[in-house]
Amino acid sequence: MAKASLRDLDYKVLQQCMHCGMCLPTCPTYITSKLERHSPRGRIALMRAVADGRFEAGTELAREMNHCLGCLACTTACPAGVDYGTMFETARAETEANHTSGGPMRRFYRWLVLEQIFLFPARLRLVGWLLRVYQRSGLAGWVRRLKLPYLLGRDLGDLEPQAPVMESPFSDGRIAPLETPPPGVPVRGRVGLLSGCIQSLAFGSVNRSTVDVLLANGWEVETPRLQSCCGSLHAHNGAPELARRAARALLERFDPSRLDAIITNAGGCGSHLKHYAALFPEGELAAPARAWDAKVKDIHEFLVATGFRKPVARAGETVRITYHESCHLSHGQGVRQPPREILRAIPGLQLVELPEADLCCGSAGIYNILQPGESQRLLERKTGRIGETSASLVATANPGCHLQLARGLRQRDAAVHVTQPVVLLAEAYQREQSA
Ligand code: SF4
Ligand code: SF4
Repeated sequence: MAKASLRDLDYKVLQQCMHCGMCLPTCPTYITSKLERHSPRGRIALMRAVADGRFEAGTELAREMNHCLGCLACTTACPAGVDYGTMFETARAETEANHTSGGPMRRFYRWLVLEQIFLFPARLRLVGWLLRVYQRSGLAGWVRRLKLPYLLGRDLGDLEPQAPVMESPFSDGRIAPLETPPPGVPVRGRVGLLSGCIQSLAFGSVNRSTVDVLLANGWEVETPRLQSCCGSLHAHNGAPELARRAARALLERFDPSRLDAIITNAGGCGSHLKHYAALFPEGELAAPARAWDAKVKDIHEFLVATGFRKPVARAGETVRITYHESCHLSHGQGVRQPPREILRAIPGLQLVELPEADLCCGSAGIYNILQPGESQRLLERKTGRIGETSASLVATANPGCHLQLARGLRQRDAAVHVTQPVVLLAEAYQREQSA
């Protein structure tokens, strides 16, 4: 877990880089800029200079660390095993703590979102409900036509159309607290489902598909109500203490000793959820956090590791599909092949590889909001690559990537639908029933 400042960080972490440059061609911000200072090697040198006291932890450091996507592509490429994630989170925490990351307005919005909304599931639900009323009542259309959000500032005006569409009902309205496999399917064990924060409001249908797939494969599913945010948003945005508060709330909701696994279906959350022990290295939560880490599994890795039933093929046309890797699923968790294995097992799909499949789409948590220019460049590169595949479907396994790709494909008027592997698997099982 990130320390409060780079000077407090174990110096071994800062020393790991041997300056070979192998990470440079995989770093999105280096690819778009070709500037050393926007590369992992340049950023590590900057952070080490701060730790050595040769450079101030001021606005220059803040600007550079806010420009970094935190996509962790550099850690996959690095032969020296550099722990870039820890350095990145520490540097962001330091620039937030010393207020060099932005002005009072940014600090207010950050306090409101991270501290007053995302730590409280009931408040987040209320915001989701208000947003749903706004989106479904026709009010959103009028507000956009009259350009009202721009009266409150350019950022808000650009941001408003990017708000995720709230589903009805939310996840808790679609999934019972305990569900058991249908008659005829032998029970193999019981898992817990992490329903997520934005996931539970805007992608409740993906959670429903996840439960359907688990039931069809013999797993009982426990889904505690009103789960809090996992804290990844807080950790990646320089708020380690708030990340601990979020983790503590989730640890209280699940009992890992009664579950075979705790399932996450959001790549960005999973990579943080698997490392709660680093948040609580000592104290009363150290042992529960270690037990938790051992049980958290991404849905795709769990299905492939435990064996999932391949849907029965039916006659019909073949659809071309491609797959975009969420950074924190591939680089953060090392889960690369399981989603592809699931897609290949679904009758009627032809999987075509996406060039640069593991290059960030520019979503990166709230990066698309904070760094819209760079985010848009990466999005256009990604949707261009999707166009090269001639696929009519693109699958991904993270809500942020899903929203970003859908937005980019709309901008291009591309007839490509965005979906998720687990949704397609659930639909294939459903087609068996209707055969
Ligand atoms: S996390 Fe991503 S954007 Fe940041 S330095 Fe590494 S590869 Fe580049
Ligand atoms: S690949 Fe690793 S060791 Fe080489 S420059 Fe990048 S971070 Fe440093």
